[in-house]
Amino acid sequence: MTENIGNFEILNDSLISIEWDKDNIGYLLLRDIRNACPCATCKAAEKGFKKKIQLKNKECYELISIDRVGTYALKFKWADGHETGIYSFESLKKLSNWKE
Ligand SMILES: [Zn+2]
Repeated sequence: MTENIGNFEILNDSLISIEWDKDNIGYLLLRDIRNACPCATCKAAEKGFKKKIQLKNKECYELISIDRVGTYALKFKWADGHETGIYSFESLKKLSNWKE
């Protein structure tokens, strides 16, 4: 494991890249990331325990910031104020074009 793992770059309004190791860079759509939000609220909605959260607004997919969480995850903040989802690198890999 190198310290570059998890380095990310915001490429444009809809796409980011994350470095998995020095030869592997994953590209991820912000829309896919938001739709896969792992926080308790979104997970509950997904399972149907709560009314499905409506992600109709453009702000839902508008990125404000990305923060590293320790050495294993990233936290995304969205323009609609949502920021409780912590995405492990493993879960982000599954969302990217990166194949083992
Ligand atoms: Zn969420």
